[in-house]
Amino acid sequence: MDSAASTAPPRPWPLRAERPGPAGSGPSLPFAWLDGAARRRAEAGLTRRTVPRPVDDALLDLAGNDYLGLLRHPEVVRAAADAAHAWGAGTGGSRLVTGDTELHGELERELADFYGTEAALVFSSGYAANLAMVTALAAPDEGDAPLVVCDRYNHASLIDATRLAKASGARVTVFDHADPGHAAAALEGARERALLLSDTVFSVDGDLTDVAALAETARGTGVTALLLDDAHGLGVVGPGGRGTLTLAGLRGARDVVVSVTLSKSLGAQGGAVLGPRRVIRHLVETARTFVFDTGLAPASAGAALAALRVLRAEPERADAVRGRAMELSRGLRERGLTVSTPDAAVVSVIAPSRESALAWRSACLEAGVRVGCFRPPSVPDGRSRLRLTARATLDDAAVRRVLDVVSTTRPR
Ligand code: PMP
Repeated sequence: MDSAASTAPPRPWPLRAERPGPAGSGPSLPFAWLDGAARRRAEAGLTRRTVPRPVDDALLDLAGNDYLGLLRHPEVVRAAADAAHAWGAGTGGSRLVTGDTELHGELERELADFYGTEAALVFSSGYAANLAMVTALAAPDEGDAPLVVCDRYNHASLIDATRLAKASGARVTVFDHADPGHAAAALEGARERALLLSDTVFSVDGDLTDVAALAETARGTGVTALLLDDAHGLGVVGPGGRGTLTLAGLRGARDVVVSVTLSKSLGAQGGAVLGPRRVIRHLVETARTFVFDTGLAPASAGAALAALRVLRAEPERADAVRGRAMELSRGLRERGLTVSTPDAAVVSVIAPSRESALAWRSACLEAGVRVGCFRPPSVPDGRSRLRLTARATLDDAAVRRVLDVVSTTRPR
């Protein structure tokens, strides 16, 4: 999330965790260049800051990713506490050394069952899951590395994963956003092995790519695995929030691997890769963000498992969040704004300029509604926007308030 302020000071300022006054001793010359770099970012209006969230947040929050309202659900919070009491505050090591608890296995079985895959493996974050999924499957085999074909707007974690794959010999090609035809052209060079790599729901605009067409494209080559990031699909798209594979008729597909995060609709923390058993076994043995990373904290595993069970018991939450997103989109469009038509929980509202996007977000905040804001370099010039995320638990009054605040504070 881009959370910059255009009037940021040219020098670094205290973060909340910073100690006041002089800290440490000795020359700081090796870091002197950072002041210049910070000043240049500030001059370009690209400074980022953390956004404090008070415990008793009275704001109406449409900037976070707690799509189903499970982050503070009593059963989810209790499961986190129970897991910490039973297993400790951390796992104490990699899953391969000492950190593998019953809870991890239970969560993996339930996630795989929910998505209809043979197996699943959890990671300490969705970011780590994506690094694992791509690098382990793009690794050279007896000297031969695959072609990796990526949507231009893939998430940063997939981009980083692709960079690592490239460093280990993979050839990488980018195709135009959500254009399966262009992906097919890029795959024409596929020889022995290829990977087609895409987000399902894109995080900035909330648009859903044509996953069935991507699967057909991959299958057309006979050698391509489809790797999908369903971070914004889990719990939101498909019947009962079962995700994009189910929606696209790919449940049980043997040539598709999908990653999810546990930190959005499940309100917890962590990530997972889901797919065929032999893929998951390969990740256990070779994925560096699994082998060399401390296992997912018990509290996070317990919370995610409880959240998944709430979602299974209350599948209407998925319909509710999509419905609320649609109401927000429709309402803002009726009020004359340029708004995306949401496929999932994200609604994006175009701002006239990058400066006005920031001012608009601040005005919403002052009126008690927190929204996200994207501007260059996170999005192309001229495409600065507010990003609103719907939540299953928003009531009618909250939706009306958001519509009023966002439309009345619009830049003129
Ligand atoms: N993929 C996508 C599409 C995301 O939006 C995010 C979170 N911003 C991630 C992966 C990373 O997930 P996590 O926050 O669990 O590391």
